[in-house]
Amino acid sequence: MHCPFCSATDTRVVDSRLGAEGDQVRRRRKCGDCEERFTTYEVADLNMPRVLKSDGVGEAYNVEKLRAGMMLALEKRPVSMDSIDRAILQIKKKILTGGQREVESHWIGELVMNELRNLDGVAYIRFASVYRSFNDIDEFVETINLMEKKVATQKAKQKQTVD
Ligand SMILES: [Zn+2]
Repeated sequence: MHCPFCSATDTRVVDSRLGAEGDQVRRRRKCGDCEERFTTYEVADLNMPRVLKSDGVGEAYNVEKLRAGMMLALEKRPVSMDSIDRAILQIKKKILTGGQREVESHWIGELVMNELRNLDGVAYIRFASVYRSFNDIDEFVETINLMEKKVATQKAKQKQTVD
């Protein structure tokens, strides 16, 4: 990296050691030009990338939203909460492994579909058939909620006519 003192491009590592917790590497560097020494720290970047929606708007990664979408697809299916948690963790790992600062929400939808396919065939088809016609999980959750409200209203109306 460049020297922070004189901006020379020629700096070299003179010492490198692992931090006490093993989660950080500390390096002593020396500038070849001005001979100043400085320290750099290397840590894993574990920040979740921003999620770009189909309209180009970016938002923070929201695990609760993702969970809500999966739960809708898995409603009344014989899948344990532990398996769902593991699937969500897998999705998170894949997103982190990509190392990108921004990811498209559509890609996250694909990851969800892959996990659902492993968990439960019915849930996968539910999610895939509905999700493919939507732009992102937000829209999916909103539409399902709206559909459920409509069904509830219709049922209430039917009940009134029967009475
Ligand atoms: Zn320098």
